[in-house]
Amino acid sequence: MLFNLFKKKDKIANNDNNMRAKKKNYNQQVANRKGEIGEYKIDIQLSQLPKDYKYLNDLMIENPKSISGYSQIDHLVITPYGIYVIETKNYQGTIYGSKNRKNWLINGKFKMMNPVIQNYGHIEALKKYIDKSYHDKFKSMITFTKRCTLKIDMELRDINSDELVIYDVYLNETLQRKESILKLKNHNQFTDEDRQVIYESITNANITDPKARETHTTRIKEKKSNAVVMSNSQCVVCSKKVSEKVVTYCLSNQKFNGKIYCYDHQKTLNV
Ligand SMILES: [Zn+2]
Repeated sequence: MLFNLFKKKDKIANNDNNMRAKKKNYNQQVANRKGEIGEYKIDIQLSQLPKDYKYLNDLMIENPKSISGYSQIDHLVITPYGIYVIETKNYQGTIYGSKNRKNWLINGKFKMMNPVIQNYGHIEALKKYIDKSYHDKFKSMITFTKRCTLKIDMELRDINSDELVIYDVYLNETLQRKESILKLKNHNQFTDEDRQVIYESITNANITDPKARETHTTRIKEKKSNAVVMSNSQCVVCSKKVSEKVVTYCLSNQKFNGKIYCYDHQKTLNV
């Protein structure tokens, strides 16, 4: 993966034509790659969970209540005591938020959709496929990278909460701590059969047909980029207006330190 990334970089360096367009493309690829690396870390963690935990990645299920008509769920883990629905965020900066506020802020300036509310929507969509008797087993988890400083409600940071916001590196640890607490509190444990039924119901609800996914990719992308609502979408150097894509890219890239740069001024930072 990284090898390909560097190869691509060389190619760009050797080609003066359409340099700018390619640079744009390259920046976008790096942004995508960063997202993938973030996801990869989570995948590794999930693969190291106890054998009797079942997990699913990158689910797409129908959700008539969402703008796109679908919910995209990053990860779902079925444990002896719960069904954990995990939403991952790759932003960088200080995150300000509270449970009921509609929007959260990145670096005090950029609005993002409250991820707890977003994930609540995912869980509601999933409930349609799961027997009512299991509905109280759903737990919501939002992960941020260590490149973030979380300034959010203590309630959302409390291990006893069913809606938790954590750093992604502590995902497994948090899952297992929650499991021990639920065990201590004598919550009902799923039987192996229960978990198999839940796993199969969700697997069946998951839209895997590549054509169906592709058809809705644009809308999902729109939805994702809408997670950052711009209140200040100008380059900090030249005040030029930039697109949502650029805002999202800059905010998820460490070297920009939570600031927004246009393509030209991104380049001045690349030296
Ligand atoms: Zn600029």
